[in-house]
Amino acid sequence: MSRITIRILGTTAGVPTRERGHAAIHLSYDDGEEFCCLFDCGEGTQRQFMIAGLNLMKIDDVFITHWHGDHCLGLPGMVDTMGFEGRQRPLTVYAPEARRVRKSLAFSHSMGAVKVAPRNVPAKGSRVTALLEERRFRVVSIPVKHSTPAVAYAVIEKDKTGIDIKKAVRFGLPGQGGLYRRLKDSGEVFLGSRRIALEDVSVTRKGKRIVYSGDTEICDNLRKLARGADLLIQDCTYFDEPGPERHHEHASLPEIVEMAGKERVKRIILTHISRRHQDMGQLRDLIRGYPGFEVAEDFMTVVV
Ligand SMILES: [Zn+2]
Repeated sequence: MSRITIRILGTTAGVPTRERGHAAIHLSYDDGEEFCCLFDCGEGTQRQFMIAGLNLMKIDDVFITHWHGDHCLGLPGMVDTMGFEGRQRPLTVYAPEARRVRKSLAFSHSMGAVKVAPRNVPAKGSRVTALLEERRFRVVSIPVKHSTPAVAYAVIEKDKTGIDIKKAVRFGLPGQGGLYRRLKDSGEVFLGSRRIALEDVSVTRKGKRIVYSGDTEICDNLRKLARGADLLIQDCTYFDEPGPERHHEHASLPEIVEMAGKERVKRIILTHISRRHQDMGQLRDLIRGYPGFEVAEDFMTVVV
């Protein structure tokens, strides 16, 4: 059984507060073999790892949404620590304008000691780009609409085919046993002269879809990526109606409510919260009545 665990390590917009650190989201996919990656790496991320009891050294892939400081200033420090710890494995950093990966590490003592591989992520157009193809899932990106080149990311689990035991028993197969392994491996088994094909007794479980918006106003590309998502971690810098002076670059609660309903998003976690919104009680009141909505807090754990 697979388990996707997300730890939201930083939830502020722009500047930190006593309660909220800069953007960073840790994702672990575990089905006996664990894969960990990080989305954004704001200042202080490596310390958030320690407080959360997470292991920095397990991260092989970092996905940066854009190059504003609140999403990337933790990178040089994190790479430094990896160097101190004697890291041998390379670290892949995915980002728009990937040439900036090396520039951002100019202050890292470990630059050179830790092999960092920049991977460019397209930030123009409307295409979904596959960045990382894993046995169990893939990570994709799409350009979004911010004041600088920016992208949203999604982790899309592959569909899984399993045996529906009730169906199998109806076909005369035993309730358990080695036949199932043979059926899965070869696609068929024989009971006497009767052939039973895998598709006769199988059931397909749709893979999970987890989307992280990064910083963006609501746009068609984000809608496309978020459509049908099991979880959307969404920039909600503002909880009130956006005024004309700040209609760009970020999303607000009323806009997100509209998008999530239309795109049938199952669960929405609002993050990247302006320091203007300090009162958690008040924020929870504002989302009351919107099923599936939650307000992020630093160190929040979400299992999908
Ligand atoms: Zn930001």
